[in-house]
Parts: sequence; C-alpha cells; structure tokens
Amino acid sequence: MLKGQCGQTAIYQTKNNRARAFLFHCKRWSCPTCSPRKRRQLRAIATAGKPDMLLTLTHDTKQPLTPDEAAQQMTKALTAMFRWMHTRSKTANFGYLWVIERTQRGFPHCHALLRCQFVHHREISAKWKELTGASIIDVQRITSERQAANYVTKYLSKEPHKFDKTRRFGISKSWRQTDTDRTVDAFWQGVPVQTVAYSFSELVAALLSAGMTPEASSKTHITFFYQDPTLTPPTFNSS
Ligand SMILES: [Zn+2]
Repeated sequence: MLKGQCGQTAIYQTKNNRARAFLFHCKRWSCPTCSPRKRRQLRAIATAGKPDMLLTLTHDTKQPLTPDEAAQQMTKALTAMFRWMHTRSKTANFGYLWVIERTQRGFPHCHALLRCQFVHHREISAKWKELTGASIIDVQRITSERQAANYVTKYLSKEPHKFDKTRRFGISKSWRQTDTDRTVDAFWQGVPVQTVAYSFSELVAALLSAGMTPEASSKTHITFFYQDPTLTPPTFNSS
C-alpha cells in the first residue's frame, strides 16, 4: 500500500527507456480531493453502461430496523431483485449499477441504473415488496443517451453512503461493455510504483534535466522517454 500526501506526493514508475510521473491520490471517499473525482468516475461508468431504466428503491419504514440493518437488508434484496429481473426480462446484455444514499432521516435509499428490457412497473414493485416489505418505488424508462446522462447527474451526484457492513455501490461484471482505461495503461500494468521525495513539478523538472522528452500527458500523469532505447531513466530515493 502506497503512502503519501494526497495530491502532493509524486509517484514514479520506470520501464525500459520510459518513465511516468503522477500525483499520489489516496482514493478515499472521505478525502476532499478524491471524493469529487470518485463521484465523477462513478458517473462516467454509469453513463457508459447505456442504462435504459432507473429504479429508486427504499426500505420498509414500518419495520423496526436501524439504518445499518435497513442497508444490509436492502443490499441483500438488491442481489435477489436483479437476478429476478434478469430472468424475468430475458435481457441478453442485462447489467446494473446501484448506489446507496443516505436520506435526511439517516436511512438508506437506493438508485439503480439497469440495462433491462421491459418488466412491468407493477411486477417490479410487487417483487420489491416481497423481498423487503417496502412498497415505495419509482421506475423510469430511459429512452435516450441524453436522458441517461441527465438522470446520472441528477441521481448520482451525491456521495454514496457507507453504512456499516454494506458497500456504497455495486456494479455488475457485464456493466462496462468496453474498458478503454485498461487498454491505454496496458504498458504500465504491473510496473512497481515508487513515491519520491519531490513534489510533482520537481520530479518533472528532474526528468527534463536528465534529458528525457515528454511523450504524452493526461489529467493525471506525464510520460517521458529517451530516444535512445538503451538509456534507462534516472533513479530517485523514495520519500
Ligand atoms: Zn485523497
């Protein structure tokens, strides 16, 4: 596990005649720097799944459950619910993404995006009632990418809430139909990362003064290389 100061410690990787510099991010939901990034990433994943349905699910307020118990019951019921919807709708590329939010009263509340050809609203409500006892549910069909993007912005803009023993969100394996992030970074996969005792800009300056050429940059990192493939990037002490 890497340690450093979020958004300040520089991270360094080298492979062959290439080096990559980026900033350490702790990736915690509680971090003021990382939380907005994580929310943005989650929204991007949600939109990329091309959902055609939005469900809003609540728990049964008549049951004497604590918020944590209600969240546990809810996430357990979600698994059964989606399995049933998959079978019932016979959707070949069925997929889902759900997030748990906290209502003002402190109880869980779930938004789920699905790729699920039609299952009737009444049947969905009846199934949720059977699983949880709750009857309040909202079902929206999504008919365009623009509508999907609007819903994602509207319903997935809050930070998913961490109840005791339950996850903040869940994504089915089939949700992402293509994964561009992973192919782009294939070259760097498995390459050890090191924190260095430099700020990001100091590390960049050190690589430039070592005669390396910037090759590509993204919002998060810069890649450098030597024209001469026999040269290897400089080494630095760990922070
Ligand atoms: Zn952070």
